[in-house]
Amino acid sequence: MKSITRQKPYEEIAGQLEKFSRVFLVGCGTCATVVRTGGVEQVAAMEGKLQESGFLVTGWTVIPTACDEMTAASAQENETALGNASCILVMACALGVQRMSLYVKKPVIPALDTMFMGMEESPGYYVEACDQCGQCILGYTAGICPVTACHKGLLNGPCGGTNRGKCEVDTDKDCAFTLIYQRLKEQNRLELMKYYHPPRNAQVIPKPRVKYLDTEGVEQ
Ligand code: SF4
Ligand code: SF4
Repeated sequence: MKSITRQKPYEEIAGQLEKFSRVFLVGCGTCATVVRTGGVEQVAAMEGKLQESGFLVTGWTVIPTACDEMTAASAQENETALGNASCILVMACALGVQRMSLYVKKPVIPALDTMFMGMEESPGYYVEACDQCGQCILGYTAGICPVTACHKGLLNGPCGGTNRGKCEVDTDKDCAFTLIYQRLKEQNRLELMKYYHPPRNAQVIPKPRVKYLDTEGVEQ
């Protein structure tokens, strides 16, 4: 699973930086490097573009994993260059942006849009596979997630628009429930198509969702 990002249009990035003249750049050596939005190459290119536009880049780094505690160590290592900057431009997913915001008091600006958690189906081809809904029904759907595979995110499909196995929203695409049906049939578990999934009560899901493991690894 990778956090899939794409770079914001440069005009939007420059607009967010309008009030700042000195920028420190941060990339991520994990997902953003793999999907080529925030690795060394992209951070260096951004540095060049910002300088061409008249910004002073006080320094840059690519943190091995920007969404974890390595960001704290990196903030310490780059204390001087960060201190000389008036803002930090982060080329990592939103988790990296939020991490960096924990450790520096200066404005932290995202250069990327975080799109989805993606599974690499073939080299370079990432597909949204899970919306992290917190109530997984893959056991009933032969491992195909209707929350992400169905355009309407239905749990009890198909909808009335399915036609010859295709989706009414995108006729090039197989209906998620055709795929679920076919795989359940192969597994001799077609009776699961009749299982009713009750509506989810989103109002009772506390946000942000958390999971806490104590020092023994026991969930609290
Ligand atoms: S049902 Fe789909 S979105 Fe929900 S946890 Fe399972 S795979 Fe993820
Ligand atoms: S046709 Fe199938 S995949 Fe498309 S919206 Fe309806 S149920 Fe979902």
